[in-house]
Amino acid sequence: MSFQQLNIHPSILGALEEKGYTQPTPIQQQAIPAMLSGRDVLASAQTGTGKTASFSIPLLQLLSAQKGLGGIRGLVLTPTRELAIQVSENLTQYGKHLSLRSVLVYGGVPQTQQVNQIKRGADIVIATPGRLMDLIQQRVISLSNLQILVLDEADRMLDMGFIRDVQKILALVPAPCQKVFLSATIPNEIQELVGKMLRSPIRIAITPEKTTAVIQQGVYHVARQNKRALLKHVIADQQMRNVLVFARTKHGADKIARDLIKSGISAEAFHGNKSQGARQRTLANFKQNVTRVLVATDIAARGIDIIDLPFVINYEMPDTVETYTHRIGRTGRAGNAGTALSFCDYEEQAQLKSLNRISPGKIEALKHPFMN
Ligand code: AMP
Repeated sequence: MSFQQLNIHPSILGALEEKGYTQPTPIQQQAIPAMLSGRDVLASAQTGTGKTASFSIPLLQLLSAQKGLGGIRGLVLTPTRELAIQVSENLTQYGKHLSLRSVLVYGGVPQTQQVNQIKRGADIVIATPGRLMDLIQQRVISLSNLQILVLDEADRMLDMGFIRDVQKILALVPAPCQKVFLSATIPNEIQELVGKMLRSPIRIAITPEKTTAVIQQGVYHVARQNKRALLKHVIADQQMRNVLVFARTKHGADKIARDLIKSGISAEAFHGNKSQGARQRTLANFKQNVTRVLVATDIAARGIDIIDLPFVINYEMPDTVETYTHRIGRTGRAGNAGTALSFCDYEEQAQLKSLNRISPGKIEALKHPFMN
């Protein structure tokens, strides 16, 4: 299937071509026509499937078709600033030949610039829930003209404690507004929200099998005190560049990064205690191969979009299968091959057991010569 067959506006088609996209991904093939039909949509799809474009393209197309209407007509809610920035970049790229204005609204930075941009006029707002609520309460933002609302990574909103803000925002959206929810998993709370807020939605499911099929998964059984040494060995022997290492805590991430640097492997920690500016610099360094290893916590890593990330390492085992799937979904994107390695110590056996029961692919037990 081609993008042309999806009846996409020629200006957007031109931008997609310039971006080098030749074919829509499975989620795009389903979500673009669903959204263009005007119906509500519930899509379960993970990062790495092309989900951002799957809602950004029809959002731009629908809004550019309605001439003469004013005010904020499109709203994309995301759980993290990083994700909001990525959505904004996507909208700018696909919409570069259209004249829609989009504005980013997120916390952790002064309001003034965002307020001024909104006052100058915005067709689309991309926002994290807390700052959006603040600006609504200050009457800087009104949702009364909203035509389309996209809730991205709904399950993360729940995990990060934003669900109340999201509910408040949804209550302010006019009834006829088209609503699109995306979520990697659909836990009960999201199911409830769907039942209350979406009108007979078109349901789309892109199964994890499809996204993890090209990811090789391996596990090292290793004592906790040997994990540091194993990490250095694995990075060195496989000559890994661009490795994303997951740590359980911010403090742990700092320690791992410091330890790698001591051994001559360039690394930076990426977590919520770092300022927005520092996080962006860290990400830029990693993308430009200035740093080789990014050591991230789950929450901070949620918004990271890195094309072609070849290696993910779970320094500590994730607590849930969903977290595991999210973590390893950082590699093997858009059809590229990827390797996900997990370090499992004695106390983490239970997590591995449940992964082996329900995980989407096979996790191969590996042995490293250094451990003999
Ligand atoms: P996402 O799931 O939105 O995080 O997208 C994953 C990656 O796939 C991003 O780097 C996108 O730029 C890229 N991508 C999205 N759609 C396509 C497409 N149709 N062809 C090639 N790459 C794509």
